[in-house]
Amino acid sequence: MFRKILIANRGEIAARVIDSCRRLGVATVAVYSDADRDARHVAMADEAVHIGGPRPVDSYLRGEAIIAAARATGAEAVHPGYGFLSENPEFVDAVERAGLVFIGPSAKAIRAMGLKDAAKALMEKAGVPVVPGYHGAGQEDALLASEAARIGWPVLIKAVAGGGGKGMRLVEKAGDFAAALESARGEAATAFGNSAVLIEKYIQTPRHIEVQVFGDGKRAVHLFERDCSLQRRHQKVIEEAPAPGMTPEMRAAMGQAAVRAAEAIGYAGAGTIEFIVDGSEGLRPDRFWFMEMNTRLQVEHPVTEAITGVDLVEWQLRVASGEALPARQEDLAIRGHAFEARLYAEDVAAGFLPATGRLAHLAFPEGARIETGIRAGDVISPWYDPMIAKVIVHGPTRAAALGQMETALAATEVAGTVTNLGFLTALTRHEGFRAGRVDTGLIGRDLAGLLAAEAAPAAFRALAVLAAAGLDGAGGSERGFALWQPLRRTVALEGFSAEVEVLGPARARVTLDGEVLDCEHRGEWWVNGRKLRARLVHHKGGVSVFGAATFHAALHDPLARESEGPAGGLTLSPMPGLVKAVFVAAGDGVAAGARLAVLEAMKMEHTLVAARAGRVAEVLVVAGAQVEAGAALIRLEDEA
Ligand code: ADP
Repeated sequence: MFRKILIANRGEIAARVIDSCRRLGVATVAVYSDADRDARHVAMADEAVHIGGPRPVDSYLRGEAIIAAARATGAEAVHPGYGFLSENPEFVDAVERAGLVFIGPSAKAIRAMGLKDAAKALMEKAGVPVVPGYHGAGQEDALLASEAARIGWPVLIKAVAGGGGKGMRLVEKAGDFAAALESARGEAATAFGNSAVLIEKYIQTPRHIEVQVFGDGKRAVHLFERDCSLQRRHQKVIEEAPAPGMTPEMRAAMGQAAVRAAEAIGYAGAGTIEFIVDGSEGLRPDRFWFMEMNTRLQVEHPVTEAITGVDLVEWQLRVASGEALPARQEDLAIRGHAFEARLYAEDVAAGFLPATGRLAHLAFPEGARIETGIRAGDVISPWYDPMIAKVIVHGPTRAAALGQMETALAATEVAGTVTNLGFLTALTRHEGFRAGRVDTGLIGRDLAGLLAAEAAPAAFRALAVLAAAGLDGAGGSERGFALWQPLRRTVALEGFSAEVEVLGPARARVTLDGEVLDCEHRGEWWVNGRKLRARLVHHKGGVSVFGAATFHAALHDPLARESEGPAGGLTLSPMPGLVKAVFVAAGDGVAAGARLAVLEAMKMEHTLVAARAGRVAEVLVVAGAQVEAGAALIRLEDEA
């Protein structure tokens, strides 16, 4: 086993690798950017080395700086985590040239799976089912169109160098093919510098089921499947293991195919074979197809750990340091059911817009596994993925585990930024999801209902009013209900106000939008005679009520001017990114809400809209420009 390793990553995955190293007696070296000086992973590691500026290209993507840090600290091996340099074969070569061990597969194995078309050809040869389609070298328009027709509509065009859903287009009928091909090629050329595409049959009621594999360079075992069908814009939201509705025949077929795939490329370490499954008629062994292999640890690996009892990072370290595979296939078994929910700083209603902010308050539940790189008081910066934490639960059955997830989310408290917590909670209550009827379109289809379910009930808003009025007994006493308080008053919160009438030593009546809510504190909160599980928290940004729903209220500052849009009529870039398009020119008149520009950042496109009506005074960027967070993009002035 290694004595010391360097972790070439940040956030929750760096922290998670350090946890396993501690248990194994392996010393750890963290690396950090200017933005992460005080980050949790840096605090946890035995040593830490500064590697550059906040932008990933200036720090976590600087292979040479990371290798220099490993040599300077005497680390013997480098753990890449996921993202950043984890699937970069040149980095693997450089690590090995420096006499260090890369904790992961060989550069050759990564290259073999790097391009979708070559990987599919390789898998076909190894006897792994691949999605029916065309993945040849010929790229003439007429050839691609005739192949698409042969496959049968609908088809999916994919960039061979693709990732993150880029360069992917669904085509329903022949007439739409030419335009879709052109736009897929354009996007692929910009994103990957490679405009080649492949065509696949579009699978109906698709489910994303992936198999965890582990190899030693020759042999491989599988650690069963994960279902990652709950996706929004091709990004996973809640994952689970095992897959609901999985049959022993299908599991055996998928496991064997995954092991064949890994062994075909001499795979070493942890990897994932992603399959697309046609779930239109339940799970059948002849209805799954290889999509791609991820040659690294996955974000959602903890659900596999929960059901198998294996620490995958421990296995990674043991195999990379030269030990044999820690288990045989027949030693591995599934116990119970596990879920993982990804808690993000993001505005779900605004199209999952990533958010930033200092976490004024953060508390996690007991009884769930929490993987996080963030502590209370830390900042979600615009530089990296805005994940706050992963919440992982494990129970004897699927229903029990899902119930635990609902409880764990209800006990999770985040204030200081907008989060997807309410959305995750709404998902755990979604009838189809509860019944195990999952497919990749579920979230998109039911988004409106999920957003509505997320709204906090009036009782939660009433409790926020009490907290804002100082009537919640904060500070451990019941001081809030002291008799010097006026008996009747108006309490103003950002966006709404309510009437409060003190009724007794621990009772108050809140009138809110005409609704009367009698609130009482008797050990717990009671509203109109109903006991609620609710916790009231005061923080810098205002007050928050946490429980089965979450409600945040900023204290209304009557001196603050009513917002008339951003300062000086400027539209600022909310995060660092690439300006994809600018829709206005100086002199144009715009209505409130009009599209001004599109910014590509954090793997997504964000439309920036006019905060108010006006005339465009100045356009300060051009399409194609890379901009920093806070950069002025467009200045509006009032209509003359
Ligand atoms: P990327 O590498 O760009 O993320 P993938 O090939 O991994 O693209 O596919 C991303 C997602 O797109 C899958 O998880 C699935 O939801 C959907 N998808 C991919 N291929 C198909 C297909 N042939 N039919 C239906 N949906 C698909």
